Amino acid sequence: MDASTDKERDHKKLGKELDLFTFSELVGSGLPLWTPKGTILRDLLDDFVWEMRSRYGYEKVEIPHITKRELYEKSGHWDKFKEDLFRITTREGDEFALKPMNCPHHTQIYARKPWSYRELPQRYANTTMCYRDEQSGELNGLSRVRAFTQDDAHCFCRESQVKEEFMKIWNIVDEFYSTFGFKPKKIRLSFHDPKHPDKYLGDKNRWKIAEDILNSIAKGKDVETIDGAGEAAFYGPKLDFMAEDAHGRLWQVATIQLDMNMPERFDLTCINEKGEKERIVMIHAAIMGSIERFLSVLIEHLQGAFPLWLSPVQARVLSVSEKHTAYAHEVEKELKAAGIRADSDDANESLGKKIRNAKTEKIPYLLVVGDAEVEAKTVSVDSRDHGKLDSLSIGDFIARAHEEIKRRG
Ligand SMILES: [Zn+2]
Repeated sequence: MDASTDKERDHKKLGKELDLFTFSELVGSGLPLWTPKGTILRDLLDDFVWEMRSRYGYEKVEIPHITKRELYEKSGHWDKFKEDLFRITTREGDEFALKPMNCPHHTQIYARKPWSYRELPQRYANTTMCYRDEQSGELNGLSRVRAFTQDDAHCFCRESQVKEEFMKIWNIVDEFYSTFGFKPKKIRLSFHDPKHPDKYLGDKNRWKIAEDILNSIAKGKDVETIDGAGEAAFYGPKLDFMAEDAHGRLWQVATIQLDMNMPERFDLTCINEKGEKERIVMIHAAIMGSIERFLSVLIEHLQGAFPLWLSPVQARVLSVSEKHTAYAHEVEKELKAAGIRADSDDANESLGKKIRNAKTEKIPYLLVVGDAEVEAKTVSVDSRDHGKLDSLSIGDFIARAHEEIKRRG
C-alpha cells in the first residue's frame, strides 16, 4: 500500500514540519538522521514497549552491529540474505557483515552456558539498529530505509511453553496498539508455501508442529484470521497483526514468529526433568517491528498530532508582548521542573502568528500569558484537542497535564 498517496498526511512532509528527522546526501539515501525531537519520540515509544516487556520477564541484552560471515552461514542468512547484506572486509582479509537482523547474535547469548529447564524461558529484549542494502529506487522516507531500529526480542523456551509466551506477547501488542486507537483487528497466519518447500529451512514435520501450534493459539482468540500461505519467514511460521489506521488503510504491524530451525542449527538445548538434553524453540517478537516504519504509519495515522505523553513539546508558553516575557520564562521553568517538556515563544511577533506556528507544530497545550495572567499568576490554556479552557494556576495546569500523561491520554 502506498503511504504517500495523500500529500497532506504524508509522513515525510509532516516529519519535516514537526522537525523529527532528516536525510543528508553526504550520509546517504535511506539513512534517516533523528533530530532531538524525533529522538524523544523514539525513546518514549521504546520505553513504553520495554515497560510492558519487563512486566513479562524480559531482560535487556546488547550486541555489536557486525559479525563474522560464519555466524550467518550457520544461521542460513548468508545464503538467503546475501544480496541484502552490507559486507565488510577487515584489513586481515576476514569477511564480516553489518547485521540485517539480531536473532543469530542472540542465539549466542543463550548458548553461553547450559540451562536447566527450570531457568527457561530466557527472554532477551534488544532495541537496536539493523542494516539492509535496499536498492536506492525502493527507498521511501521512513517506510523503506537502509538503517532501521528493531524493538527486537527473542524468547528461548520449551515447546510446552510456546502458547503461554505467545499470549504474553499478544497482550503487549494489544495494549501497545490500543493506546493509539490502532488495535489489530485481523491476524494473518503466515505459513510456508506448500508448493515451494525448498524456500524454507528444516524438515516438513517440524513446520507442521509449529503451524499447528500457531493455529491453535489464533483459534483461542476472538479474532479474524487471514490465510497467509507463502508469507512465513524462511526459518518458521508467523502470526502477523493487521491494523487499520484512521484513513482506513490496513497495515501489518507486530509479528510473532515461532522458530524451530534456528535452535536446531545452533544446537540450543536445555536439560530437562530426566537429566537429558532437550531441543528448545525460539520465539521472535518485535512489537513495533521497526521504529522507523512504525513511526511512518503513526505520523500519518495521527496526522502528526501525538498524544500528550508522546509529544516532543508538550506545552508552549506564549507571551502577549515583551513585558510578559519574564513571567513566561518563570512559567516555563516551573513546567520543566515538574517534568513537562515545555518551551516558550517570545519572538517579537503577534500572538496570532505565534499561535499559528504552534498549531503547525501540533503542540498539545498553548499557555498564553498577558497582563491578567501576570497579575493573577495564572495561564490561559488553549488545548489542541479540547479548544480554549479556563485560566488555570500553574499548579493546576501541571496536575492536569500529569494526569493526562499518566493515562497516556
Ligand atoms: Zn529474530
